[in-house]
Amino acid sequence: MSKTVNMGVKAMKKKLFFICLTVFVAVFAAIGVQASEYRSEISVGLRYGPSSGDSATFSSSGGINVYNAADGTLLYAAQSGEELYVQMGSTGFAAMGKFDGSGIPKISLQPQNGSFIICDTKPYRGYIYLERRENGELLLINYVGTDDYVSSVLGKEMSYSWPIEALKAQAVCARNFVLCRGNVHKGYGFDVCATTHCQVYGGVESEHENTRRAVNETKGVLAKYNGQVVALYFFATSGGKTESVENVWGSPYGYLKAVDDSYENADKASKYKWSVKLTREEIEQKLIAAGVNIGTLKKITTDKVTDSGRVTQMTFHGSEGTHSVKLEKCRTILGLYSQKFVVMPDGGISIVTTSGNANAPIYALSSEGIGGIAGYSALSEGGVLKSINAASDGAPSYSINGGGYGHGVGMSQWGARGMAENGFTYDQILRHYFTDIELG
Ligand SMILES: [Zn+2]
Repeated sequence: MSKTVNMGVKAMKKKLFFICLTVFVAVFAAIGVQASEYRSEISVGLRYGPSSGDSATFSSSGGINVYNAADGTLLYAAQSGEELYVQMGSTGFAAMGKFDGSGIPKISLQPQNGSFIICDTKPYRGYIYLERRENGELLLINYVGTDDYVSSVLGKEMSYSWPIEALKAQAVCARNFVLCRGNVHKGYGFDVCATTHCQVYGGVESEHENTRRAVNETKGVLAKYNGQVVALYFFATSGGKTESVENVWGSPYGYLKAVDDSYENADKASKYKWSVKLTREEIEQKLIAAGVNIGTLKKITTDKVTDSGRVTQMTFHGSEGTHSVKLEKCRTILGLYSQKFVVMPDGGISIVTTSGNANAPIYALSSEGIGGIAGYSALSEGGVLKSINAASDGAPSYSINGGGYGHGVGMSQWGARGMAENGFTYDQILRHYFTDIELG
């Protein structure tokens, strides 16, 4: 399984809530992947898999040379501005009336004279590789300079209008990320895809003067931990504190620890606070979609919560049984913005206490918030105060109030922006969010 991951603020804005969430769903398998060196060129899978089609259109203001990728033979030289409609046949590629690459399943298209190559209306730097795979699928890869790639990704993952030091911190994250991506697209032979699954890449169109500046001013800079280039994860908003990786993806890593995130702008940051209301039926349906049937939902309990307020274990209690989820699943199973939330049943109150001390105050938690109950006491059979949730049983709906947007591990983009606005440099920003890293 692949680890999915980073989702920039800008990319988020463009996607529906539930789509965003899928970005973070994936399981964390690749975190251990580390790279030891810089590569000046990387490969981006623009089209692959069963829905990759069987044709593509190319042109370039400088002309395009088409080669047999296996032996370097020139198959065709397109003139400046000439359009090539390349179709995949049963054994190779052809452009009608221009070249016949039957029996040639791998070709490369190289723009000439330093020009971009336009692939299906979008311009790209570098060159394009096309392959007819043995299963008949089309594979379309853009080979591009690492810094050009980062410059494009920056424009998609963070707005180019953000402070330059925040963009520079993001540039190092993006550079580290692609070099550490490892083998998540196993079998296809490219480093990253162009979507939120890896990092959103839009070719030349998503570059900007500011993103190129951020890349240039961090040229060659990589973040290392214990001497290894490591994946620098990021997300939009923490809501005040980031999270240690083990509370989200399960295994601890020394550079991914919870830190205070006090520079996020609570008024502007995406989903710094949020509230979602779900009916009992909606929750039951989400559980069924996840393969869980507990009958009629009676109660939801959040069983474990971290210091930052993120839920790491919660239980759904129903007429036919109970179901507990842990870590990131606490967020994804209901499609929430973050793992940091409290669940409040509507139409009733829960009596909750903070300790087993008989003199401890008792608070009432309702959809309106939390408040003390004067002169109220509750004793369990053992004479010890404990949580009484009876009032919430069978609530028709639940208010889920939370904070933050994204997985919460690593750098908060809104926090980075706040730090940059307060005079911190990109290296200070990175050292804040990634414990004990070296930059160089
Ligand atoms: Zn991917």
